[in-house]
Amino acid sequence: MSIVLAFANQKGGTGKTTTAVNVAAYAANANKSVLLVDLDPQGNATSGLGVGKHALKASVYDVLTNTATAVQAVCRTKVQGLDLLPSNMSLVGAELELVNEMARENRLKEGLVAARQTYDYIFVDCPPSLGLLTVNAFAAADGIIVPMQCEYYALEGLSQLINSINLVKRHINPSLSIFGVVLTMYDPRLNLTQQVETEVKSYFGEKVFNSVIPRNIRLSEAPSHGLPICLYDGRSKGAESYMALTREIIRRGDGR
Ligand code: ADP
Ligand code: MG
Repeated sequence: MSIVLAFANQKGGTGKTTTAVNVAAYAANANKSVLLVDLDPQGNATSGLGVGKHALKASVYDVLTNTATAVQAVCRTKVQGLDLLPSNMSLVGAELELVNEMARENRLKEGLVAARQTYDYIFVDCPPSLGLLTVNAFAAADGIIVPMQCEYYALEGLSQLINSINLVKRHINPSLSIFGVVLTMYDPRLNLTQQVETEVKSYFGEKVFNSVIPRNIRLSEAPSHGLPICLYDGRSKGAESYMALTREIIRRGDGR
């Protein structure tokens, strides 16, 4: 039975996709069988893993609209042990098409039933909103990982995120919880980074991962080569930090 973890934060640019892609790749390197679900119409996780967005035979759209199961729609990646449920702009339509459908919040969960028997970890890269796509991720997930950028407005919008999580928990998925919070674009030399870290830790306590992700140019270059950091530059600071974060996630995950 898999553990399903969704990377979510309704702000854009907090490192959701970078974290989802690289944690998924390192978990596969650690001999876990891993599925990464790209749930963002932007398809950044899809292209970041070198999968062409425009000629997909099937995608997460088909899973949400019940025309394919996840197992049918996945594709392999260059990372051994890592499969991808890809996405592209067709997903924009799913959000609209589902509005009047029954049980629309549970489409992803239903589509992942068979996959949960196959994979050790299923990671979901959420779009930067709290709309129906993210609600589908929360309904399907066991836990949420919140990537937070160490910037001035990091905590702004947090109450909305917590509200959404609590709503889904109350009405759809009682076992949902925050699995962890990861600080991204971390620069210990900046006062601001330290302030954000202190605030985030006073709010989330033990949920904050010890591993932090520094700002690292190699992490931002890797997606344009269609590679996770482990294949692009496995010796960079970014690679080391994602390897350490993945170890922490697996330790928490396997301990559940
Ligand atoms: P989100 O999915 O939350 O919108 P992304 O992971 O796409 O955020 O990151 C936003 C941008 O910042 C991307 O261009 C990405 O390459 C870059 N980026 C993310 N994390 C880092 C990092 N630790 N160091 C440098 N650049 C980063
Ligand atoms: Mg993203």
